Amino acid sequence: MTFKKSGLLATLYLTCLLLALALTSSPSMAEKHHSDSPDFKTIKVSDKIWMLQGKGGNIALLAGQQGLLMVDDDYKVMSKALIKELQQFGGLNKLTYIINTHWHGDHTEGNLALGTEAHIVAHNNVRTRLLTAQEIKLFKMKSAPYPESALPDVTYTSAMTLHINKEVVNIVHYANGHTDGDSIVFFKKANVVHMGDHHFSGFFPFVDIDHGGNVLHMAENVKQVLTLIDDKTQVIPGHGPLSKKTDLQDFYEMLIGTSAEVKAMMDSGLSLTQIQEKGLSSQWQAWTDGFLSTEVWISIVYNSLLTS
Ligand SMILES: [Zn+2]
Repeated sequence: MTFKKSGLLATLYLTCLLLALALTSSPSMAEKHHSDSPDFKTIKVSDKIWMLQGKGGNIALLAGQQGLLMVDDDYKVMSKALIKELQQFGGLNKLTYIINTHWHGDHTEGNLALGTEAHIVAHNNVRTRLLTAQEIKLFKMKSAPYPESALPDVTYTSAMTLHINKEVVNIVHYANGHTDGDSIVFFKKANVVHMGDHHFSGFFPFVDIDHGGNVLHMAENVKQVLTLIDDKTQVIPGHGPLSKKTDLQDFYEMLIGTSAEVKAMMDSGLSLTQIQEKGLSSQWQAWTDGFLSTEVWISIVYNSLLTS
């Protein structure tokens, strides 16, 4: 398919997510889990699927005779490197679909450079978010509205399926987990799943409560996915290394376990500050390695419990 959308690329797009990393524990996620060089690390996942690791969210790439399908497209600063990377898969003009797992810039800014070449598929709420200015207060990140060419032009409500390169790509909405517009993408034949930001493999995740996310719902959604995959499933997390079902299971247990600890302290009358001072039990210490501190994670869990 050679459909190309018309429209201008963004000229006024601003992002400050790098500032976000300054707020987090050291070493930052960028240092620990992603290369700082403007290149992608390409990992073969199956016959036709690769995982591309750049600066932002992990990308899944499905390649074949009918073209390229990409899940997420990293930051704008990575677009040049991403286009270069696509050369070895036939080039940018083979790009047929981009799926955005959610609206955050580290998963969608590539739309600005690549959106003219492909259909962009996402949950309805992703288009709605990208139509207007957005802000993530925790990270002091602001984004301007996306131009038409960078917006999802194929949107869905609960689930949809794409058939390309003899693969069956199920795109399923999981409500109010990381944001209010999350998709998890199942490559049925290859037995590969791209979790979007429903999985930070091995470290505390960001959960965007101001935009409909909630730790408890995220746990519920992950539990659902665990019933759909098996020990052979290759799990591409939103952030972190290529994973297996056991890694997703560990992530689920961390979500449940830390939430239970914070809830018990809330029930005993402790304030957020007091809970942060007390901290979590030592078994969760390793989950601070790479991105969020325990204090920030506690505040995300606390606010999730307040709104549940
Ligand atoms: Zn995200």
